[in-house]
Amino acid sequence: MNIHEYQAKEIFRSYNVAVPNSKVAFSVDEAVDAAKELGSSVSVVKAQIHAGGRGNAGGVKIAKNLDEVRDYANDILGKTLVTHQTGPEGKEVKRLLIEEGCDIQNEYYLGLVLDRATSSVVMMGSEEGGTEIEEVAEKTPEKIFKEVIDPVTGLTPFQARRLAFNLNIPDELLGKAVKFMMSLYQLFVEKDCSIAEINPLVTTGDGEVLALDAKLNFDDNALFRHKDIVEFRDLDEEDDKEIEASKHDLSYIALDGNIGCMVNGAGLAMATMDIIKHYGGEPANFLDVGGGATAEKVTEAFKIILSDDSVQGILVNIFGGIMKCDVIAEGVVEATKQVGLEIPLVVRLEGTNVELGKKILDESGLNITSADSMADGAEKIVSLVK
Ligand code: ADP
Ligand code: MG
Repeated sequence: MNIHEYQAKEIFRSYNVAVPNSKVAFSVDEAVDAAKELGSSVSVVKAQIHAGGRGNAGGVKIAKNLDEVRDYANDILGKTLVTHQTGPEGKEVKRLLIEEGCDIQNEYYLGLVLDRATSSVVMMGSEEGGTEIEEVAEKTPEKIFKEVIDPVTGLTPFQARRLAFNLNIPDELLGKAVKFMMSLYQLFVEKDCSIAEINPLVTTGDGEVLALDAKLNFDDNALFRHKDIVEFRDLDEEDDKEIEASKHDLSYIALDGNIGCMVNGAGLAMATMDIIKHYGGEPANFLDVGGGATAEKVTEAFKIILSDDSVQGILVNIFGGIMKCDVIAEGVVEATKQVGLEIPLVVRLEGTNVELGKKILDESGLNITSADSMADGAEKIVSLVK
């Protein structure tokens, strides 16, 4: 789960991870009031959307007085921001963060991620803050420093010092940088984060080490023990179909293609997307209905796929292990009756009760093309959609 910058900064404050003073605003008047209350000579008006790259897209503006705060807030609120992380459709800005302007001396990058190669949390830092870290990693990987963290000891002060040193943080601020890193690590672990990214982390003219930007992602599987984090969920930022899917415990991710996929098991779902691509098609979604899906769940899954206007054909690829093929077939028939089906549907069933499943589909009177293998199914749906 993803949250807004202002929410991440609230969590930072509760862990003594230093951030500038700031206030959230939902209207232009609230933005001006927030700037008044902050009372700083310069205020920064920041669009709150679940995507980075706002600065370059005109979503971060420096205001030198309250009139400018009003103008910028007016400008940004309600605007659709298109950044390199939003996709071409962009995201509408409904909230602003009004923040004290900082006298930036230097910008750094600091991140915590789960590193699969070492099976550990890794703290990454770079002196090249403010820019895209992906670009730094590609062009000048030697400018990224990493500390692999042992889960038993946690991040040690020694590691934090070494990282701060490698980033060339000024000597007199090393202590503050170390404290910042240690607190951030504690937050990351206690809140079950999957990503913490601060870009930029800055040193300021008055000798502070602050997070100017804050991105936190949380492990969905651990959200049951973080009611406070779940409160931060902003459904406006999520895909309607993904919200609907999560209500029915379906793992669904919307993609850009035109072939809807209904599959059971994440691995099979990935393989199905790969094979569609292999035959020159583009999947419209990732959808794992899970091992123990019921006919109702399959029906819901079908409805979600069909609610996507760009879907021009559907491939159902199910291995009936825990879930039986006849149950899937019933779900498919039920769903197509409920929502109507005017686009090609290819079904590949394999496993328990496969014959019964095929019979149900054959006798349904629906226009279904059956496939004997994954490759056969992918080839058929790709050619039907073309
Ligand atoms: P994004 O990563 O989405 O572009 P950031 O929060 O990183 O948004 O802001 C972009 C840039 O705006 C920062 O790199 C920094 O230079 C400047 N900036 C952001 N907040 C402040 C602030 N409070 N004071 C001064 N400059 C800021
Ligand atoms: Mg940033």
